[in-house]
Order: sequence, then C-alpha cells, then structure tokens
Amino acid sequence: MTTTVIDGIGLLYTGDPEREEVAGAALVLEDGLVAWAGPAGRAPAADRRVDAGGRAVIPGFVDSHAHLVFAGDRTAEFRARMSGERYTGGGIRTTVEATRAAGDAELATRAAALVAEMLAQGTTTVEIKSGYGLSVEDERRSLEIATSLTDETTFLGAHVVPAGVDADDYVRLVTGDMLAACAPYAKWVDVFCERGAFDGEQSAEILRAGLKAGLQARVHANQLGEGPGVRLACELGAASADHCTHLSAADVDALAASETVATLLPGAEFSTRSPYPDARRLIDAGVTVALATDCNPGSSFTSSMPFCVALAVREMGMTPLEAVRAATVGGARALRRTDVGWLGPGARADLVILDAPSYVHLAYRPGVPLVHQVFQDGLLL
Ligand SMILES: [Zn+2]
Repeated sequence: MTTTVIDGIGLLYTGDPEREEVAGAALVLEDGLVAWAGPAGRAPAADRRVDAGGRAVIPGFVDSHAHLVFAGDRTAEFRARMSGERYTGGGIRTTVEATRAAGDAELATRAAALVAEMLAQGTTTVEIKSGYGLSVEDERRSLEIATSLTDETTFLGAHVVPAGVDADDYVRLVTGDMLAACAPYAKWVDVFCERGAFDGEQSAEILRAGLKAGLQARVHANQLGEGPGVRLACELGAASADHCTHLSAADVDALAASETVATLLPGAEFSTRSPYPDARRLIDAGVTVALATDCNPGSSFTSSMPFCVALAVREMGMTPLEAVRAATVGGARALRRTDVGWLGPGARADLVILDAPSYVHLAYRPGVPLVHQVFQDGLLL
C-alpha cells in the first residue's frame, strides 16, 4: 500500500493532549489512517510527498449537530427577525410542511449539497438529524436519506409537536410506531427539551424509549431559557447536551460531574440575535465543550465550522486553542468517536491544510476562506 508524507507543516494541531501542537511538523498517512505525526526532520520515508508549504494542518472538523434533511426556504423569517421579531422556534412547522411535500430525490440532493458545502469548509464528520417530517413515514425517509450521507444519524421525531396534534398523543407516536420505524436508521435519539416543545417528563419518556430501542441519547437543552434539559441529559448518560445557553449553577455542576459533553452552537445565537452561551464558565468548571454549526434552515443556516470557531473566540470567551479543540476533539467526544477529531497514529486521516501558518487564523481572519486542501480517509478531495 502507498504511504504519503505531508511535510512542511507550519503548525500542526494534533488534538492529542500529550502533544497538542507541533511546529515544523510532518504527518505520514497509510491506508486511510495516520501512521505517524511529529517534527518534520524525524519523519519516516514515504512513497509520496505533499509539501504543505508552511501552512497549518488541523484534524477535519467534527460537526456533531446539524439538521440537513429539509425542503423550503425561511429567508422571510430571518428577515423579519432581523427587523426586530423574537425567535420562538415556531418556524420549524414551516419547514415541516415543505419537507413533507418534497420528493425523496429533492431531499437527498439538498442534504448532499450541504454535506459537500461542509466538506469544502473542512468538515469531514457530520451528524445529521431528522425532525422535519414528524410523521412515521417522513421521519423514516429523512433518516434513510441521512444514512446515505453519514454514520452519525439522529432520530429527532421529538423536534416539535406538529400542528393540530395533541402533545400526549404525539409523544405516544414518537415512542411507539415512529421509533420502531426509525430506529433501524438511527444511532442516536434526540429531543428538543424546551418550553413550547417538550417538557422534562415528556423528554425523559422519549429518551428512555430510544435507549430501550438501542439508540444512544443526546438532547437539545437550555437553548431559549433555563429548564430540565441539561440535568436530564446528565442523568440519562446522554453523550451531549446541545445549546447550553441558559445554565443554572446546578446545570454546570451536573455537566462537570458527568461524561456528558456541552455542545455549543453559536451560529444559533448569531442568527437569532440572542446572548451567547458562556463557554468560559463551562471550561473553567471542567466540562468538555464541543462546537457545532446547528446547520438548519431556521435558526442557524451556516455550514461553516470556521465561522463557529471565530464566534466562540470573539463572543464566548474561548481561546483559539480551546475553540479548535472543541471543533475537532470535542465534536468527536460528543459523538463518542475516538477515530476522528485528532491526528496521531491510528486516527483516521481526515485533515485540513489551512491557507495560514496557524489555526489561530480561523478566528483572527473571520469570514476568510482559509481551507486550502481537505483529506478524507487519506485521500485528497
Ligand atoms: Zn438543533
């Protein structure tokens, strides 16, 4: 098999806590994996050579929270919100109508286009949720489409109660026939635990049903206000509590005492003109933090992890190192993955060569397309 050495790396961020940054580095790739990482002068010989020309290299971004299977357009809603209206989450139903009306091919084409857009911006692992079908068949087909694009698929039938349906009846459907139809296509179960969506009791019931069906849990928690979501995620051993914008001291303590990752989604606060989560408070308490895009047509229509890194540094009190860590290793932790989000022997050779000498430029040069080349499974895309 062919080996490739990437040398001339200005600064390598490895994601390996033993040796997180290496200046003047090289990487050797073999059979889709990283075989070696370290100072360029000590790199073993390889069949092929790629000269990074002094550019920085980071692991491919792990975007652990995205809603990519949908149809329709919500430009008007965004425009209204930027003209002073408040975000309530009610717009989800607009996307549900459009998604139900769309054909499978349209949904699949649009989701694939978003995954390609992400890849071009350095995201090599992405989680995709259902949640715009909200009927047994529309949720099932959303997840079937998602499985063709990623292994990280999430059943989010409990995104919102569909219009005209009784909430208790809907929870029964989600935990019954819908879960049965969706579980074969999903790794994860998720619930939007929020005022106006699902309360603590309903959320617990939905997550427990998912766990019983062999899925693992993650929770949309504490986005619009304080509530039981974060503590529920910790109690049930969820991989991640996502949003974490409004946290009590007890929430922070629960996260710190658990294995649950706090996934912060600053694109949502940006796009809804809302206060950002306090990443500094979480990190200082010892909580593992991830960054993700929350790419969705309503509250965060960005597919850009570099944009989220820049927001995290500027608006959420994270250092550039903490932000890039959260966007790679942190995302992997939020998906319980050890093969992605870092670059060392045995890791998947998913990496980004940046048109910059250091990953710090992701925040220092916001909005600038800094992705020079992306490798996935050791192959240059
Ligand atoms: Zn979301």
